[in-house]
Amino acid sequence: MKIQDHYLDRAHQVPSPNCDDRPDAQDISLLVIHCISLPPEQFGGPCIDQLFCNRLDPDADPYFRDIHQLRVSAHLLIRRDGSIRQYVPFNRRAWHAGVSNYLGRERCNDFSIGIELEGSVTQAYTDAQYLQLAEAVAALLAAYPGLSAQRIAGHSDIAPQRKTDPGPLFDWRRFHELLKLREEPSQNPV
Ligand SMILES: [Zn+2]
Repeated sequence: MKIQDHYLDRAHQVPSPNCDDRPDAQDISLLVIHCISLPPEQFGGPCIDQLFCNRLDPDADPYFRDIHQLRVSAHLLIRRDGSIRQYVPFNRRAWHAGVSNYLGRERCNDFSIGIELEGSVTQAYTDAQYLQLAEAVAALLAAYPGLSAQRIAGHSDIAPQRKTDPGPLFDWRRFHELLKLREEPSQNPV
């Protein structure tokens, strides 16, 4: 996996209008991990694409009446089967974090990349999601020097009063071990 012109080469591109310029285009220095499922606890289907592209049908599910007017997005979504969708190029600001604070710095959307895992806080993530997340994050760390394995947070870490995702079933240790395996080859070039 590689980043080319701020796009992940393996991702299916689904452009979202819910983005704008970063205040400092050079400052990409945090990764934020989220989860989402629409309708809640249901996987597959087009509803996440529809939400991020402002095309969610408010009558399709009772829950959608409350959320169909939200203007939100993320850079990436990793679905249960490991397939990846990209809504916003990484140099643009996606609208995923909301009111947030990382190590004393507010408005995390300004300087972060948001990655959604299709899932919920009550269900384990899939093997394919861990593998693809580690691959995508390794590609991002290689492309953006402000990022590092230490600067990866959950949404619940940067908005603890409001958010619980990606939840207790997201295995941070497993993710970091997979990420380390992918980073090492570039540190030891043959
Ligand atoms: Zn979130």
